[in-house]
Amino acid sequence: MSTPALHGNFIPVDLSPKKYSKGQDVPSLAEIAPTGKIWDKHRANVDQIAYYYATSGEDNFLEYAWRMRMCSELLEFRLVPEETEGIFELKLSNARFCRVRHCPVCQWRRALMWKARAYKTIPQVVADYPKYRWLFITLTVKNCQIKQLRESLDEINKAFKRLTELKAWPAKGWIKSIEVTKGKDGISAHPHLHILAMVQPSYFSHGYISHTKWVALWQKCLRIDYQPVLHVSAIAKHHDPKQLIPEILKYQVKESDLVSGKEWFLELTRQMHQTRAIAVGGILRHYMRELEEENQDLIGDREEIDEVDKRSLFVKWERKLQRFKIMSDT
Ligand SMILES: [Zn+2]
Repeated sequence: MSTPALHGNFIPVDLSPKKYSKGQDVPSLAEIAPTGKIWDKHRANVDQIAYYYATSGEDNFLEYAWRMRMCSELLEFRLVPEETEGIFELKLSNARFCRVRHCPVCQWRRALMWKARAYKTIPQVVADYPKYRWLFITLTVKNCQIKQLRESLDEINKAFKRLTELKAWPAKGWIKSIEVTKGKDGISAHPHLHILAMVQPSYFSHGYISHTKWVALWQKCLRIDYQPVLHVSAIAKHHDPKQLIPEILKYQVKESDLVSGKEWFLELTRQMHQTRAIAVGGILRHYMRELEEENQDLIGDREEIDEVDKRSLFVKWERKLQRFKIMSDT
């Protein structure tokens, strides 16, 4: 199955290797393919985060910095001919990723991987349970100090577990992801949950939960004395639940929040260490595997690129220029 988000269109230039040997100005990836700009942006942020870690004075962070420095330095793209002659699609076929949790390139690739998995899975679920309806739920708590983030995430996860154990909990299967944004004050954190849940068709006539009741249930599960903010919306019958997947499986922490300040970011890393990002529950467990990702998962689906065309394009990250530059094509 095609995962278009992993790829980018490629506009060819003369790529003969000898043309730009010995210091001649070689084109950057961004100059020949739209995907180049996206790679440049994420990779530049890797350098920024690596700098935060490198200057933190903490040993384990120095190790992250070292790994990140080498993340996705070299990329190999397979050139797959499009219908129009001379136009190729670029498909990433080889790269080394650092897999440091908050690495901007790795979290971007990870989100693509989850989307690709979900795009394969959700249609199977819909085919098996055609009458089921889908809810999109966002559950929040009050902002916390960044130093209290771990505690707050623990509370949220415990409360969510209690929620799913209630008799009133209507979902038969769900995907849950945690997102943390930076508070408007620039120092606090706003943790919240996004949930895509499938409910029986009878939900709207029996056991329907109003917004007021959702708030009361979530407040009870959180064991707090204020009414928490939450949003629940039903996906219209004829709408494909798959369309909600990018919203559910987007980044845990927005890239712009990651790079917007060293101290907040370093504390975020400490607080989120070994916390879980995405969980699948109920009958959806049978459909989505929650395996540890491997380097290959962050590259993409190998089946699609096998033996279509042997021609490859190699690019290298030029730190000083903050650009991916073409090395050669073979
Ligand atoms: Zn990385």
